[in-house]
Amino acid sequence: MKNNALKQLSFLLLMLLFVASGFSQTQKRPVIGISSTTGEGTNTSAPLTYVQSVIRAGGVPVILPLTDDPELLSRMLDVVDGVIMTGGEDIDPLKYFGEEPIPGLGEISPSRDAFDITLIKMAVKRGLPVLGICRGHQLMNVAFGGTLYQDMPSQVKTPLLKHRQSAPGNYGTHSISIEKGSLLNKQISKESVAVNSFHHQAVKDVAPGFKVTARSKDGIVEAIEMEGSQRVFGVQFHPEVFTSKGDDTFLGIFKHLINEASKK
Ligand code: MN
Repeated sequence: MKNNALKQLSFLLLMLLFVASGFSQTQKRPVIGISSTTGEGTNTSAPLTYVQSVIRAGGVPVILPLTDDPELLSRMLDVVDGVIMTGGEDIDPLKYFGEEPIPGLGEISPSRDAFDITLIKMAVKRGLPVLGICRGHQLMNVAFGGTLYQDMPSQVKTPLLKHRQSAPGNYGTHSISIEKGSLLNKQISKESVAVNSFHHQAVKDVAPGFKVTARSKDGIVEAIEMEGSQRVFGVQFHPEVFTSKGDDTFLGIFKHLINEASKK
């Protein structure tokens, strides 16, 4: 009888431990590394909108400072569960997709290019979920063998829409059509949506192993995802501007990233 009671007690204790460990796991918010810029070399920063979007979606944001030391970068990745590649400068066409620069090319940042390309390759190799936004989305394409329009207005021969809006950042100015069944479709539960637009570069040739999942009406690529992966995807627009302002239209994009990150 005494033995039986002891068994029951230890069973209860085990159950308690099991439930407690389950709770601590679901409550442990995943850490999301956010790629940064050094500006003129005086600071390390990322727009607050990315930080706020990660927090709103249930993640813990950390900013990944630039380094040219791959070992240091590798240790940074040891402590994150997912990565966001942020917007910013144009990507060096000569170094990363073998094209001479045309007059319409904007400012490039060699140190940021080198860091970002190493970061995204390392993160994907580790199986970490990665969300690319604007420059980050273009960089994802280039890192895996794709090319870009260096400057859409001077390179796209067919009529273009306005992709550099003169409207508030959290206001959608052009629509996109989203592939049914794609990650973006599942994340925001829409096949058409108005997005903001702040770019003059865009994906031209899609990288092998990636597919286009959204386009604007002029045919410009507005979203890509890695085929056969649920965790590597990019958008040309800026969902973080909506999400950080409390608009839930694109919150699902960040929630998906954080959900994938929690499975690390
Ligand atoms: Mn656009």
